[in-house]
Amino acid sequence: MQAAVFHGDRKITIGEAPMPQAAPGEVLLRVRRTALCGSDAKLWVKGAQFTPGHEIFGVVEQPGHALHGRRCLVYIPVHCGHCESCRAGDTQMCLNESVLVGWNRPGGYAEYLAVPEQCLLPVPDDIDDTLAPLLLDTIGTAAHGVRFVKHLVPPQSTGPVLVTGAGPVGLGAIVALQNLGYADVFVSDLKEERLQLAESFGAKRHPVGDGSKRFKLIVECSGAHAARSLGMEIVLPRGVLILVGENDNPWPVQENKAIRRKDFYMVRTFYFPKSDFPLNVELLRKEKDRYRRLVDRQFGIDALPEMFDRFVAGELVKPLLAFA
Ligand SMILES: [Zn+2]
Ligand SMILES: [Zn+2]
Repeated sequence: MQAAVFHGDRKITIGEAPMPQAAPGEVLLRVRRTALCGSDAKLWVKGAQFTPGHEIFGVVEQPGHALHGRRCLVYIPVHCGHCESCRAGDTQMCLNESVLVGWNRPGGYAEYLAVPEQCLLPVPDDIDDTLAPLLLDTIGTAAHGVRFVKHLVPPQSTGPVLVTGAGPVGLGAIVALQNLGYADVFVSDLKEERLQLAESFGAKRHPVGDGSKRFKLIVECSGAHAARSLGMEIVLPRGVLILVGENDNPWPVQENKAIRRKDFYMVRTFYFPKSDFPLNVELLRKEKDRYRRLVDRQFGIDALPEMFDRFVAGELVKPLLAFA
């Protein structure tokens, strides 16, 4: 089968790789679509031990298995199903397993991969192949973050909210916020095309770095230290700053009056619990037209090296690797 190798130094090659073998408790998945994700840029720079790609959709090819032939997404956190977190429904924070598909075991920039059965999310027939991968990071991660803090800052009493970073997760957050009742959404980003897309979703521009307006809820999706630090300053008292974006570098925080003299919540959320999946499907059904606009390119595996360059350069919002 064909698979991508991330060598590091921004080099990706496509080559032949042995067919994966499904171990007991796993199934073979033939990939149909894998969405490119900004977090893979780390592996593009550093290199990856396993095939990356973690927004994976495909068809189970495991004759005899109950899900053989079914269209499924891959829920990337491998989880034990019986620890305290898993029993509470927090499968994304399993206390016994820390492996993520596409990070610590082979992912979806390949024709096939082996997937633990518990990580299969069957996709309803009315969700087409192109939209299905958005149910993971773009819808799942963004909507989970908003749902997690909603009781702290209910929409009725929250006023304007700010999303920093208008990449796929930020744009997903705008749609999720509006659907959960936050009508007045502002957005900041450096890229004009992304701002225009956000505006067409009904968000209003907020200049990057502008500290003059304060917000009860800030959804930080850029991972940029400057945006996080500014968020701590401009979040209103008793407000919430959610850190959805990620950053591997140390984050030095300079305390100041704006940060020190207030009570506020700074919240991190990661991915989403498996039990959110039906809610995410409902959200996608309601907002199909807007989500579809995020997918701006579909291409075969030979084009992955070039498309990845263009994606990291910010020319594409949510391109999909597609197999026939
Ligand atoms: Zn991702
Ligand atoms: Zn567990």
